[in-house]
Amino acid sequence: MPSCPLCQQNDLEVISKKDRHGKALTTDLCRSCGTVFNSPIPTDEELTRFYSKDYRKSYKSVSVPKKKHSLRAFTRAQSFFDHNGERLSQVKTCLDVGAGGGEFLYLAKQRGWDAQGIEPNEGYAQSAKEFYDVDIFCGMMNETDYPDKSFDFIRLNHVLEHINHPVAFLNRLRGWLKDDGLLYVEVPNIKAYAVGRTKGKIFHYGHIFNFSPWTLQGCGKLAGFDLANNVEAVTTALFFVKGEAGSPSDLVNETNYQEIRACLDLHYSGAARPLSSRISKPLKKLVRYIREFGKGHRYKDRKSIGQDFTD
Ligand SMILES: [Zn+2]
Repeated sequence: MPSCPLCQQNDLEVISKKDRHGKALTTDLCRSCGTVFNSPIPTDEELTRFYSKDYRKSYKSVSVPKKKHSLRAFTRAQSFFDHNGERLSQVKTCLDVGAGGGEFLYLAKQRGWDAQGIEPNEGYAQSAKEFYDVDIFCGMMNETDYPDKSFDFIRLNHVLEHINHPVAFLNRLRGWLKDDGLLYVEVPNIKAYAVGRTKGKIFHYGHIFNFSPWTLQGCGKLAGFDLANNVEAVTTALFFVKGEAGSPSDLVNETNYQEIRACLDLHYSGAARPLSSRISKPLKKLVRYIREFGKGHRYKDRKSIGQDFTD
């Protein structure tokens, strides 16, 4: 009998048979802890194939980032530094797993950090080296290795939801992190997705796990991480520090399941988003598109965007 990959209980329900584009994809919800995941979980081989060639193309229609994508990545990375300056003040070495176009690494390097990255997509990794001269390994995480306790800081920005065995993955990172190091994990929140997105447009082959704050925190605990002090587990953007590994049964939380079930009920009833938000969201997107398009055109190339963020 199949069981939940996180809490190991076997009380699962199928919540969807289609992905956000209408293609066949089965998604399960664990009634014991609220973990939402694609079933079956894809193998390493299937994922390597998907990410090395197809993913960015199917996701953003280009295999190298456009100027507007770089601009957005720089804006987000800069905001991350602005909001977490104190927390990151002791950092000297960092690893960005899923480094994308290299924007975060570039800003980290400008701060004087020894910054390295891993990025499976060839087009993104190549262009990061070319435009930002950053240190990126192009490949999957299991194709590379670092000495134990190499990094003060490891960043996973919208990566963990793509991983087929997230506990083992985090555990590997734990080995590379110094004892007083900091891990940052940001993933989409299934509760917000279910409430905020158009009916039927939630699930994606590449998003193997659809975390909630509880299951993200629990996944970290299974891999031997505690939440960093004073982080409130109400978001799926969390800082972790090394701790003791917990046991799967610690994740059992019927309230979390009930909350997710309620969000999904709202989603599928079509009542989740009021009319005003259904109109205002596309409008905001359009405004953002026009603004980014205009800004992107002011720059000669992606390199000049990076320089603008460090002047
Ligand atoms: Zn579970």
